[in-house]
Amino acid sequence: MDLQRNHNYPKVCLIEKVINETHTVRTLVFSDEVMSNVLPGQFAMVWIPGINEIPMSVMITNESGKAAFTVRKHGPSSTGLFNVKVGQQIGIRGPYGNSFDLKQGKLLLVGGGTGLVPMMRLLTFVTPDDDVTVLIGAKSKEEVFFEDLANNLLKKNKHQVIVTTDDGSYGEKGFVTDMVEKLVNHHHYDGVYTCGPEIMMFKTVQSAYSKGFFVQASLERMMKCGVGLCGSCCVGEDLVCRDGTVFDGEHLLSNKEFGHYYRNKAGILENYKI
Ligand SMILES: Cc1cc2nc3c(=O)[nH]c(=O)nc-3n(C[C@H](O)[C@H](O)[C@H](O)COP(=O)(O)OP(=O)(O)OC[C@H]3O[C@@H](n4cnc5c(N)ncnc54)[C@H](O)[C@@H]3O)c2cc1C
Repeated sequence: MDLQRNHNYPKVCLIEKVINETHTVRTLVFSDEVMSNVLPGQFAMVWIPGINEIPMSVMITNESGKAAFTVRKHGPSSTGLFNVKVGQQIGIRGPYGNSFDLKQGKLLLVGGGTGLVPMMRLLTFVTPDDDVTVLIGAKSKEEVFFEDLANNLLKKNKHQVIVTTDDGSYGEKGFVTDMVEKLVNHHHYDGVYTCGPEIMMFKTVQSAYSKGFFVQASLERMMKCGVGLCGSCCVGEDLVCRDGTVFDGEHLLSNKEFGHYYRNKAGILENYKI
């Protein structure tokens, strides 16, 4: 095993399999022992030759020694990764970042889009006695993925996987945060975990924290270096790459930028449009 390698050196990996999750989301599988063993919340910096290097959460696979990236095509970089074919190479450095503190008992996981990637890895750490609810938020039916995977990972647990779609074309109609509000008003949770769009995480953290539940979020901010140098990913005093990506709810709610402002590519603060 290559577990002692310097994680700041990019390793070139060959893409072995490409899985279409939706029309805009793909999972790219590669062999790498280090990446196959990362903790939920940790990420890699992924170099797409000739295009860019971008942060990506590390996806689980069902094969030992393999890992994956699940990418949604947005702009030039994620589209470049989305278009990588079997047999092509990418560079990977990391893993970077901390991870979720996993509680035991009744757990609520809330994921939106590719924010589900760390949630799926977190599911591989739950114990058989945990009672787990997974909330998957999507805009519409065509954008739902990982529902079957979540059910499979939890087949030995008491569990439920609830999908919400904004347009009601699948599962429960409405925003996933409305479902969070409903659930936290009726149940006690020992741990609430979230990753996805920041507004979704902000509302989830607010709802869970208002009930006194332990809650953590994994932040996805603009990130260029991944190692705490460039400052692109700062949220107030915190650098997401160095101090996170996972932060406690209480800490986040005391940060005036979380859920309200983000930094654009020039590092300038802009308002989230809520
Ligand atoms: C820790 C972490 C884990 C991530 N994991 C995943 C994942 O598993 N799957 C996935 O599809 N995406 C993930 N992302 C987001 C991904 O890195 C960005 O979507 C990608 O960099 C966008 O680049 P682009 O050129 O395609 O988009 P652009 O056209 O440049 O931007 C589209 C949007 O993506 C966001 N973005 C742009 N550049 C970055 C950047 N360097 N870092 C973060 N966000 C950016 C901005 O909100 C922007 O509005 C993660 C980001 C972070 C910080």
